[in-house]
Amino acid sequence: MTTQLLFREDAYLRTASAQVAAVSERGIELDRTLFYPQGGGQAGDAGWLLRASGERVAIADTRKGDGEGRVLHVPAGGAAGLPEPGETVTLEIDWPRRHRLMRLHTALHLLSCVISAPVTGGNIVPEKARLDFDIELSQLNAAHIERATNALIAAGAATETVWITDEELDAQPELVKTMSVQPPRGAGRVRLLRIPGIDLQPCGGTHVANIAEIEGIRVLRIRSEGRRNKRVEIALSGSD
Ligand SMILES: [Zn+2]
Repeated sequence: MTTQLLFREDAYLRTASAQVAAVSERGIELDRTLFYPQGGGQAGDAGWLLRASGERVAIADTRKGDGEGRVLHVPAGGAAGLPEPGETVTLEIDWPRRHRLMRLHTALHLLSCVISAPVTGGNIVPEKARLDFDIELSQLNAAHIERATNALIAAGAATETVWITDEELDAQPELVKTMSVQPPRGAGRVRLLRIPGIDLQPCGGTHVANIAEIEGIRVLRIRSEGRRNKRVEIALSGSD
């Protein structure tokens, strides 16, 4: 069954009710979810499912299931105490963790504009995030990258989600910056993130409503991971 992805419309939803569709050793499927399944370099969400009995089922990770639109909520414990198909549960996301992911993810959009080079990879976990660029290592200066990114964050800008058709995207291939993550095709339309005056690119991830919410970043390190992969790793400023 296809799971309705509530975070696509509102990344700030922290709780919702849903019905259990299927339970297997791989995970729990629901008719709708707040939990982002690992993808596009962004880690899957964690949180809890609350049963009517009052039991809390900890969810350690969220993954895509087999087939389009399927989402597996991976329980942290064993098979005991899992909800039954047909049961209504309350979803609760680990919000501080997800909010860090949203801030870091949106910061990578800024980084991809501060550094003018093709993006060849990326990853986001709650503690840090990175992008790889096809660029000379000598052109990457940590102090400059930090200053330029933090200046954009300090100025602030509201982010917007826009949808275009596959044909419109095909007519504008320059929109796709990330060579390693091509936008999903076939659904007839593609979701874009716009940061007015800064960035516009296909992205299915979760973003903050205003880039000011990122507060600030620092560059952890810059290193070569191969001829076409110069890696810039960042963390939120104020984090360890
Ligand atoms: Zn994004």
